[in-house]
Amino acid sequence: MKLYDLAVVGSGIGGSMIASLNKDKNTIIFEKDKNLGGCASTFKRYGSYFNAGATTFVGYEENHPIKEIFDKANYKPDITKSDIAIRIIQNKKVIDRIKDFDKFIEDINKAYPNKNNKIFWQKIKDIDEKFWQLKKLYYSKYSLNAYIKTINSFIELFFNFNTYIFKSAKSFIKEILGDISKEYQDFIDAQLLITLQTTSKEITVLSLALGLAYPFHDVFYVNGGMGSLFEGLLNDIDLKRKEQIVKIIKEKDKYRLISKKDEYLTSNIVLNSTIYDCANLFEDKEIQKYYQRFSFNNQSAFVVNFNLDTNEDLLHHYQIILDKKIPNTISNSFFISFSSKDDKKMSKNGYSVTISTHTNASYWENINKDEYIKQKALCENFIIDSFVEHFENINKKDIINISSATSKTFRRYINRANCGGNAITLKNIFQLPSCTTPFKGLYNVGDTIFAGQGWPGIAIGVKVLNEELNG
Ligand SMILES: Cc1cc2nc3c(=O)[nH]c(=O)nc-3n(C[C@H](O)[C@H](O)[C@H](O)COP(=O)(O)OP(=O)(O)OC[C@H]3O[C@@H](n4cnc5c(N)ncnc54)[C@H](O)[C@@H]3O)c2cc1C
Repeated sequence: MKLYDLAVVGSGIGGSMIASLNKDKNTIIFEKDKNLGGCASTFKRYGSYFNAGATTFVGYEENHPIKEIFDKANYKPDITKSDIAIRIIQNKKVIDRIKDFDKFIEDINKAYPNKNNKIFWQKIKDIDEKFWQLKKLYYSKYSLNAYIKTINSFIELFFNFNTYIFKSAKSFIKEILGDISKEYQDFIDAQLLITLQTTSKEITVLSLALGLAYPFHDVFYVNGGMGSLFEGLLNDIDLKRKEQIVKIIKEKDKYRLISKKDEYLTSNIVLNSTIYDCANLFEDKEIQKYYQRFSFNNQSAFVVNFNLDTNEDLLHHYQIILDKKIPNTISNSFFISFSSKDDKKMSKNGYSVTISTHTNASYWENINKDEYIKQKALCENFIIDSFVEHFENINKKDIINISSATSKTFRRYINRANCGGNAITLKNIFQLPSCTTPFKGLYNVGDTIFAGQGWPGIAIGVKVLNEELNG
């Protein structure tokens, strides 16, 4: 049996970034699916390519962990800046989330007049900018060194943000903007739901700022689909595609990984499966017990993919906010991404479109097959009708190659029913799982671990993990 220094289980954002940072070691990475990237993968269906979940790439800029990680991996992604990060449409109002602060304030003042809009959004921008300049950001457990670094990080956070790390977002909004309309509140919460998986009710001011400020950064479109980033990051690494690890056995100072094809021995193992799916991999009772402590986060995604045959010029991203909830979901908004017209791979058969919204995993798990098919179609049709209603020159007949995904689809392909990770809320701020575990050589990475979801959140976690792995 071949012995490895590092085995990574899963090629999601976390798994791929940590593997690429350690490619000079004797490293191996396993991916269950044929596509790399998990929630950020690109798949082929009906002869067309579609992004499975993630479509926006943020954080590829100086002094940001993503750029640092890509540079260390010596990989330059093929990306294009989106001039308008998202166009938000709500009750015929159109608000462009753009980097140009003054222009954005003009838009927001027209849509939701408030004498303190500028003060509020400037604070959001300032907090976010300050956050990405922090030098000691760290969250890890189970060793003296880890606790010291974590405490230093909290001191740095407190020194820079004072009460904003504990103060509730809701009271901050009220303090500056006063009692805002339901429409303005929905506008804020719909964006938080896509960036943080939660609304302003549950989070701190710091999370609020990070969740709302991402369009003030450069937002990139990934040419050839989001999944192409993983092909690049893992280019020169020992990669086992379509090989699921089904069991892991702890043996003295090593771990034995068992797939349906082979067995492997490793000194260090990084699990990119969600924290909720790790217990099942082990027979060791102590390890099982450790992972069972983390109760399942029921949040998941409903995604519709299709090709759109139109001559309309469309932006990369839109968010539509409705007055009522979308059937079988927990949201009144959906996020639409279009491929670039000049992207030869993605736009071969018209625009490649990904529409996503939030749903509960348990809903789809607990209905029978006939009901599942019926309810899935209901949700899909509602979203498509609503999409067409919001774009004057787009007709239903222009939409082809439709497919949609629920938590069950995600589980089938990428082994997870929860999608979108864990938000840092007022309730869980000290209970989040860290990348380290109480077991030597066993680590976790991904959006259910500190610091949460998406490219920027996971990259922070990868940086900490890399420090833990390499001292
Ligand atoms: C609909 C949707 C839209 C999103 N939009 C954006 C966006 O625009 N921008 C953004 O930055 N983020 C976005 N996110 C969030 C982001 O996609 C996720 O937070 C991120 O992709 C999760 O990465 P991860 O490292 O946790 O790995 P995952 O995506 O969970 O991938 C884990 C991988 O491990 C593999 N695996 C699991 N178990 C095993 C095993 N036993 N053996 C082998 N392989 C295994 C899986 O097949 C999978 O490929 C979106 C998420 C969703 C669901």
